[in-house]
Amino acid sequence: MPFTKLGLSNAMVEGVKAMGYVEPTPIQLRAIPLILAGQDVIGSAQTGTGKTAAFALPILSKLNEHQRDPRVLILEPTRELAAQVETAMRDFARFTNLRSTVLYGGVGYGRQMDQLREGVDILIATPGRLLDHIGRGTCRLNHIRYLVLDEADRMLDMGFLPDVRRIVERCPRDRHTSLFSATIPIEIETLIKWAMKHPQTIEIGARRSPAETVKHVIYPVAEDQKSDLLRELLERVNYDSVIVFCRTKHRADRIAQVLKRNNHAVAVLHSNRTQREREEALKGFRNGRFEVLVATDIAARGLDIADVSHVINYDVPQHPEDYIHRIGRTGRAEATGDAFTLMVAEDAQHVHAIERFIGRKVERVKLENFNYKYTALFEEGKPGQPTGFPRKVRGVRLSGGYYFGPARRRK
Ligand code: AMP
Repeated sequence: MPFTKLGLSNAMVEGVKAMGYVEPTPIQLRAIPLILAGQDVIGSAQTGTGKTAAFALPILSKLNEHQRDPRVLILEPTRELAAQVETAMRDFARFTNLRSTVLYGGVGYGRQMDQLREGVDILIATPGRLLDHIGRGTCRLNHIRYLVLDEADRMLDMGFLPDVRRIVERCPRDRHTSLFSATIPIEIETLIKWAMKHPQTIEIGARRSPAETVKHVIYPVAEDQKSDLLRELLERVNYDSVIVFCRTKHRADRIAQVLKRNNHAVAVLHSNRTQREREEALKGFRNGRFEVLVATDIAARGLDIADVSHVINYDVPQHPEDYIHRIGRTGRAEATGDAFTLMVAEDAQHVHAIERFIGRKVERVKLENFNYKYTALFEEGKPGQPTGFPRKVRGVRLSGGYYFGPARRRK
């Protein structure tokens, strides 16, 4: 079904056309008519499914002309996401006179206050800074008609739910609420009961499956060979752009240094960097100035970075959901991407938890002609060392349990 048949305003239909969208994605097909009809919607979809347009297009269709007071509030867990959603809003609204502004911390208040004073229709905000503005009397929510709680589970993880509640309490009861979340833990369920009216749930794809267009593999390795293996992978893999995920800010900085010494154009993204540095890193990575982005999980969720050809988990994520969110950086909007995870012996439990979570085993591979030291992982799956998974890999029963060939693409 084309965008023209969904009941969107002409300006929105023109907006998506100008962005080059040809037809709606599944979540757009299902969410747009519901939101247009005034339904509260819970969206559970993989990242990269087009969820921003799924809520933005129907809401913007309903706003018509610019007015002074904000009528739409979109809450986001991080500054980067807030900035990204605001860019999308401006893109969609380019054939209207609607105004949007983004409110997040780490920058001065002046410009944000000026824009609020001039009048905006759409607010995109992180919870803390929005509450600051409310406290200062520079922002009021009493005209909000559409509230969007985006990445709700991430807001929960980051401890923002009490702030979110305070904000919801300041919005009129007579409003429409949409909530997007990859998972719905009990705390979010409570929030849903409290903040939403007869919501309809839209689930696109299995909640737990990583993007289907991504091929992923695990490279077992000894801890002290990790950075050598990473360098070697970057030498051999034919990538356009790659995100390397690390567990800590310190490790991210260290890996970035190693890669820079090897003449890679590298940017670093983690929360100890200033807002300006973070923006520059993202901008440079998006426009191709940097080919490698080394990041902590702050970059894992929701950020829309087009054309990431590879994701490398330098460290195995501690939470299975983070694996999916990291992998979600590649294979977006149906492009294909590859995801590699470096695994040391101590990671075994986390890797098994990830495999249980996604419901399938990830293939172990060995990089050919890499000077491997012994690691106990090469024994994994041998008799007497149950892995909890069938030892049949790619249809071949192997003595060690795993296929140790080059990283071949599956058909
Ligand atoms: P999102 O899940 O909202 O972060 O969107 C992921 C990416 O898909 C963004 O780059 C969007 O611009 C793009 N996108 C969203 N909807 C469509 C569509 N209907 N057709 C093509 N690309 C889309």
